[in-house]
Amino acid sequence: MTELSEIGEFGLIEKLAKDIKITNKSTIKGIGDDAAVLNLSNNLTVVTTDMLIEGVHFDLGYVPLRHLGYKSVVVNISDVYAMNAKPKQITVSIAVSNRFPYEAIEELYEGIKAACENYKVDIIGGDTSSSHKGIAISITAIGEVEKDKVVYRNTANAGDLICVSGDLGAAYVGLQLLEREKYIYQENPKIQPNLSGHEYILQKQLKPEARYDIINFFNSNNIVPTSMIDISDGLSSEIIHICSQFGLGCDIYEDKIPIAQQTIDMSLEFNIDPIVTALSGGEDYELLFTVSPEDVEKIKANNLISIIGNITKSNDMNLIAKDGTKIPMTAQGWNAMR
Ligand code: ADP
Ligand code: MG
Repeated sequence: MTELSEIGEFGLIEKLAKDIKITNKSTIKGIGDDAAVLNLSNNLTVVTTDMLIEGVHFDLGYVPLRHLGYKSVVVNISDVYAMNAKPKQITVSIAVSNRFPYEAIEELYEGIKAACENYKVDIIGGDTSSSHKGIAISITAIGEVEKDKVVYRNTANAGDLICVSGDLGAAYVGLQLLEREKYIYQENPKIQPNLSGHEYILQKQLKPEARYDIINFFNSNNIVPTSMIDISDGLSSEIIHICSQFGLGCDIYEDKIPIAQQTIDMSLEFNIDPIVTALSGGEDYELLFTVSPEDVEKIKANNLISIIGNITKSNDMNLIAKDGTKIPMTAQGWNAMR
C-alpha cells in the first residue's frame, strides 16, 4: 500500500488524472490548468452539485469504494437528467484522511471513471485536500439542453398524468438489509453476511443508474414532460415539489405504484408495508414527471414507465388506496424514516 504522504497532493492528482480522456467537443481544456475551459453552445447549461460525507451518506463498512465513486457520479447526473438535459462534464473534489492509502483513492476513481465512461461525461477538474477524519466527495455536473426542452419541477398543469420510471423503494430496503447484516456481523464475526437472492435491491442501493434511457425516449418521441424531478428523497416528498403551485394537487393510485418483488419481500421481512417503502424510501434515482394527456399513448407504449395518477385542480394530495379510500399524502421524506 502506498501512503498518500509519500506521493503528495500533486503526485496524487497526476496519478488520478493520468488516463482521463476528453470526449465531448464542448470540453476545450480539462485537468491541468488553473481552470477548465468549456465552449458551451446556444443551448442552455445546467449545473448541479452534490456532496457525500463518510458516516453521513455512506458507510465504508459495506460500501466498496469503487461503488461509492460510481454512485457519487450517478446521483449528480440524475439531477441533470431531471432537467431533461444531457450531462457533459463533471468536476470531482475529494478530501481524504491519511487512513486511506493511494490504492483506496485509485479504487474510488475507478468507479468515478467507469460512470463517466458509461454516461459519456468528461472529468474536467476538481480539488484534492486532506481531512482530519474520513472521506468526503463533492461532484459538480454540467449539462446541456435545448432552450425549448428544459423541464422544471413546478410547471405541471391540472389534468396532466403523473408518471414514474422503473420501480420504487428498492434502494431503501437494500440499505436496511446491509445495515442488518453489518449489525449481525459485528455481533458475531463468524456469521458471514447472507445477501444472495437480494441482488436487485442491493444493486439499487450500491450501484444505482441514472435514467438516460428515459431522457432518450422523450427525445426520440418528441415528448417534453410538463414537469420533472428525480426521486432522491422518496415519492411522497418529491410529489410535493411537483404540486407546489397554488391550486394544484394530485391523486396517486396505490395499485399503480411500481414495486419490485424483492422490495415487497424485504419490506415484509422488516414489517414495513411495501407501499410505505415505495412512498418514503429514498435514493431511488428514478424520474417522476408529468405529461399532458395528449402524450398518453406514447407513454403507455413504454413499459419502463408507469402512470401512477394525475394532477388535480385542488390543494389536496391524495393516495387512493386499493379499496378506494382517499388518504392525504404527507411529506415523509426518507430522513424521517431513518
Ligand atoms: P489549483 O492550486 O490551481 O487549485 P490544483 O493543484 O488544485 O490547482 O489542481 C491542478 C489541476 O488538477 C486542476 O486542473 C484541477 O482542476 C485538477 N484536479 C485537482 N484535484 C483533482 C481531482 N481530485 N480530480 C480531478 N482533477 C483534479
Ligand atoms: Mg486546487
